[in-house]
Amino acid sequence: MTKQDLMTRTCSKCGKTFDEKSIDDAAAEKYPSCPDCWREWTTYAVMVMNEMRLDMSLPEHRKALRKHERMFFGLEKPEGELQKNPEKRPED
Ligand SMILES: [Zn+2]
Repeated sequence: MTKQDLMTRTCSKCGKTFDEKSIDDAAAEKYPSCPDCWREWTTYAVMVMNEMRLDMSLPEHRKALRKHERMFFGLEKPEGELQKNPEKRPED
């Protein structure tokens, strides 16, 4: 490759590189997440919603889910747990 491929991003969850164009879910574009991990998150999100009995019509509940979303993709450290990569910053 001679020129930088701006469409390639590194997944913040698994570390794999993926083609940004392969993301078709608009919500997934907020995070550097590969399609596989995004699918994993959507499955996990349903579990979180069921477990925490989240109601997506309530702003506070949407906020709670967003927090889990950020933790899932490593953009926010889980409460009460040490961050494994304190130097790591989400790339934009
Ligand atoms: Zn991934």
